[in-house]
Amino acid sequence: MTQAAPTSAYVHVPFCQQRCAYCDFNTYAGLLHLAGPYFDAVRAEIAAERARAGQAGDMPALETVYFGGGTPSLVPEAQLASTMRALSDAFGFAPGLEATLEVNPGTLRPGAAESWRACGFNRASVGVQALRDPLLAALDRIHTAAEAEEAFATLRSAGFENLSADLMLGLPGQTEADVVDAVDRVVSCGAGHVSFYSLTVEPGTPFALRYPDGRGLPGDDEERRLYDAALGELARNGLSQYEISSAARPGLRCRHNVVYWEARPYYGFGAGAFAYAAGVRRGNVVGVPAYIEAIGAEGAAEDSRETVDRAGEMAEVMILGLRMNDGVSRAEFQRRFGGTLDAAFGAAVRPLVAQGLLEDEDDRIRPTRKGIDFSNVVSRAFL
Ligand code: SF4
Repeated sequence: MTQAAPTSAYVHVPFCQQRCAYCDFNTYAGLLHLAGPYFDAVRAEIAAERARAGQAGDMPALETVYFGGGTPSLVPEAQLASTMRALSDAFGFAPGLEATLEVNPGTLRPGAAESWRACGFNRASVGVQALRDPLLAALDRIHTAAEAEEAFATLRSAGFENLSADLMLGLPGQTEADVVDAVDRVVSCGAGHVSFYSLTVEPGTPFALRYPDGRGLPGDDEERRLYDAALGELARNGLSQYEISSAARPGLRCRHNVVYWEARPYYGFGAGAFAYAAGVRRGNVVGVPAYIEAIGAEGAAEDSRETVDRAGEMAEVMILGLRMNDGVSRAEFQRRFGGTLDAAFGAAVRPLVAQGLLEDEDDRIRPTRKGIDFSNVVSRAFL
């Protein structure tokens, strides 16, 4: 079995104005002066990947592009535009390309949203997190609730029709009413897609010092109530859950993220970015100067490499696929791997169905609501 060439590309933008208190992503404050050499390196990495991949006729055009971070909306528009051009020159863009830019509401400059549209972005994912100022202050976010709402208006008037909002659950002092209000307001602002993530206290972050062992933060039961409140309000607003942490109006699922959850191949460019193709998952060096230097010296910045064999890929299809409400299709599994899902995983699926964690419906194995709540139990069965 040979994996198809990627039709998705992720570009990592590791610059932020300031670090949020909970964040452990690969991103840096105070390094924006390196944006020029950094994006030169990203473009060189794209060209090198293209050269490695062979002749133009052999390669499918990109169907999804995702600039994430970090704060992509912080960097000069010209850098984003020339990197989009580099991707288009290297791989081509398929008709109907979904091109997402992550936007921090504290970074919108006059004319920036129009430039983003002009260079091909057609979807914006706005980091809202919460819509009450004390909650945003507790997170060390650089924007207010009003600025987050204004960001949607600015993006809409620049022509962005496909808008997503990120919200966080489990913040100190957050109530169900806060969550319901935030959902209602981002939907009224035009978000047709909402991602809702639980706050996790990562070691080494300011949050880990402020809330040792999670003390002072909502417990599991309270967090579950906030999650239920979010899901209920999203549904009332016409956004259906399609993945553990994602809900969308019909037709507005994030196609790029679905590629990850279907364990399909993707390119990854930039510091700390991961790529997955031809059964190999590669990770780049994480530091910005180290990445720039490695690309300059070798045209590549690979720091880790993991071969994913057929059994590993089958397990990933189940673990990631069962994050989605639609689950995994037996027919699709068989088309991809040759063997049946039941032969590979029947022994793992049956007890989960008996425990009410999975549903077995003709072609599809899907998680139940209980299976979504206990996704760690479901995942472990396929390891
Ligand atoms: S803006 Fe996003 S990436 Fe940057 S520090 Fe805050 S949470 Fe992390």
